[in-house]
Amino acid sequence: MKIGFWPARVFFEPEALNYARGRKLYQLLEKRGISLGMTASHNRVRVNLGNSEREAFEEAKRTLVIGVRRGLKFQSCKPSAHYQLPLATGCPGLCRYCYLQTTLGRKPYLRAYINVEEILERAADYIRQREPEEIVFEGAAVSDPLFIEPFTGGVSEAIKFFGEEKRGRFRLATKFTAVEPFLQLPHRGRTHFRFSINAPDIIRRWEHKTPSLQRRLDAALKIIEAGYPFGFLLAPLFLEGDWRKRYLALLEQLADILPGKMTSFTFELITHRFTAKARRQIEALYPGSGLDMDPGRRQFRYGQFGYGKYLYPPSLRREAEDFFRREIKRRFPGSTMEYFI
Ligand code: SF4
Repeated sequence: MKIGFWPARVFFEPEALNYARGRKLYQLLEKRGISLGMTASHNRVRVNLGNSEREAFEEAKRTLVIGVRRGLKFQSCKPSAHYQLPLATGCPGLCRYCYLQTTLGRKPYLRAYINVEEILERAADYIRQREPEEIVFEGAAVSDPLFIEPFTGGVSEAIKFFGEEKRGRFRLATKFTAVEPFLQLPHRGRTHFRFSINAPDIIRRWEHKTPSLQRRLDAALKIIEAGYPFGFLLAPLFLEGDWRKRYLALLEQLADILPGKMTSFTFELITHRFTAKARRQIEALYPGSGLDMDPGRRQFRYGQFGYGKYLYPPSLRREAEDFFRREIKRRFPGSTMEYFI
């Protein structure tokens, strides 16, 4: 099996070993000779990972904590779903603009939760409480969750669980490509698999430690072939330089590769935005990177979690929305644009 991510070190919370899944994983990792340690809490890993802030940050992204998700109150998740499904926190990628800079700050190490069954039972409670509504759960709100699969199997378990649920649906989004474990699962069309893509020059410049556009598209084709409801996240859209030309080329490339038989799929489009906290951290970690984060050229707006974000000015966002809606409709008339923000 192709494994997308392999950590440099793994820490376990003692409680994770109360679960058969946790004990089995510990033994497996021990056999593989990976550096193993214990930590009292998955929210506090006390280990010196580097000599500089940047080194510590990048090493933390190679550090996995296997923990137990205790607080089983799910967060809301607008605009893509009703609730977040907390299978994991963090991501091994090093995208310079990453939105997790705001939520994870100086704790960017990866967390995968071993109590998958309890998390899914809690999802079932939420579904029962809101019957007869159909409730949607997002698996990628605070992580790119594919990295957990070889460790907790959480993504596969969630796909199978929602395959059986008449009133629940699952969504996940990824930039990663280790999709083999999901191709044969009984998803029954209830997991919406989206690939986050961008123009190749943006990927090269800003999305470090993530697969190329071509590899993401190859993985996307496998997921389409496996019959999953499918979509593309175009995010973040950088509305700088000759952005129309850049994104027209990307849409043309999609039109060339999507199989003719595929008529319905979704688009979600998110323009680049940042918080003051993310800006401070990105500038501390990668000074002079050239990422455009000039608050003077943005509109400040409060978001759903109480902190403000800097967005492109409304006139530019409107212009971009018209452009993308028109060009997507022209090339993919059967697609649905779920949102443009
Ligand atoms: Fe952040 Fe997504 Fe990049 Fe991971 S892949 S670093 S979650 S932007």
